Amino acid sequence: MRTPHRGAAQEGCEADRLRVTIFAGIDDPRGEPFMQRLVRGLHHFQQHVFRSQREFFERLATGQAPETLFITCSDSRINPNLITQTEPGELFIIRNAGNIVPPHSHVPGGEAATIEYAVEVLNVSDIVICGHSQCGAMKAVVDPTPLAQLPLVKQWLDNAEATRRIAKTRYAHLEGEDLLEVVVAENVLVQIEHLRTQPAVAAALARGAVRLHAWVYAIETGHVHAYDPEQGQYAPIEGKLVPVVEGTRRSASPWS
Ligand SMILES: [Zn+2]
Repeated sequence: MRTPHRGAAQEGCEADRLRVTIFAGIDDPRGEPFMQRLVRGLHHFQQHVFRSQREFFERLATGQAPETLFITCSDSRINPNLITQTEPGELFIIRNAGNIVPPHSHVPGGEAATIEYAVEVLNVSDIVICGHSQCGAMKAVVDPTPLAQLPLVKQWLDNAEATRRIAKTRYAHLEGEDLLEVVVAENVLVQIEHLRTQPAVAAALARGAVRLHAWVYAIETGHVHAYDPEQGQYAPIEGKLVPVVEGTRRSASPWS
């Protein structure tokens, strides 16, 4: 059930639209401890951004009604609100190493619980899983050597075992950057399949209440490719039509 404040939250959205900036106009003295930089950032936000958008934040405080669940990597170089130019209150976000969705099991987990809440309570209409270029987690899927000293990460990346096997069987001819690129893209599709196993998602799909999207964001270009099941491959998102992942997964050749 949506909160009753959607209308209020959306009214004046344009007028209250926050400028999403990378540096927020803050000076960056050399040698300043980073925590001090964070504190100055807090003060800047409170004194400039919040004050100028007070009504917007007061409306936000009355409830949230995001329409999209956005699942992406914890990588510090990814900023979902920045790349989609969205505001606080518009994306419900799950982040972890490798933008992974563990398949449904009897073991409760933060991802499953958050997905259930997003679908059953917030009634999100779209779920995006967004992988990214140069993903350290996917590098570890390709080459698990660094995981010898990271038992918990190793265990977590078992959720990408299907990705590893697909890479091994289908892309054995690739290596380096070329291999990593297809592994990132394949992993998003593997996690989409895991997403379908979540009971709340399966039920929402069955009643046509939710759409699934597989995206890959390129840090170095800013471009986002989406998997198009009609084409059986990733393609740049152009115009207003965004491909929806539906039906049985097809061949997952990377974008051309
Ligand atoms: Zn990553």
